[in-house]
Amino acid sequence: MNSAYIYLQIYRLFDKSTPLPLDCGRYCSEACCKGDSESGMYLFPGEKAVFDMVCPDGWRITDSELTYSYNGKERKTPILICDGSCDRYFRPLACRIFPLTPILDNEGHIKIIIDPRARSVCPLANTFDKDEFDKDFTESVKKAFILLSKNKHVYEFLKTYTEYIEEYNRFFKDLRG
Ligand code: SF4
Ligand code: SF4
Repeated sequence: MNSAYIYLQIYRLFDKSTPLPLDCGRYCSEACCKGDSESGMYLFPGEKAVFDMVCPDGWRITDSELTYSYNGKERKTPILICDGSCDRYFRPLACRIFPLTPILDNEGHIKIIIDPRARSVCPLANTFDKDEFDKDFTESVKKAFILLSKNKHVYEFLKTYTEYIEEYNRFFKDLRG
């Protein structure tokens, strides 16, 4: 099946589901969209197909430094760099689930956590516990990744991604002392 179709279906989970039942961007001037011109969002395996079909003007996709292996091949994770504004229906999955993110727990099951990379940007990531986010939103994030992780390519990617996120968690833990 076309991976773009799968992602487009998953995106729909987040059409109405947001971290809080209000527009949190109004209170932080959309801080998560204000990175520099080289910062961007990782695309999950197969998600690039969505932006191969339609990519807003001024956006670009490039290979990131995050590599993982799948099917005996070393692969680079694509990163989408936007221009800091968008029609919300064009947002990639990483933006839709922010500031949460998936990792694999010790048993290899999907676990949803607050993204440690969000701590330097997002007031919600710094002040809320995961349980304080809108329940529908948290459940949609979990549902999306339980579904996606049935795909072996996504699952293999998540193994590397988990190590990458855990590295950030250790870094912030060390900072907090
Ligand atoms: S930085 Fe956090 S609070 Fe601000 S718009 Fe993004 S998700 Fe909402
Ligand atoms: S794609 Fe849209 S939501 Fe995501 S960072 Fe860019 S402007 Fe923000």
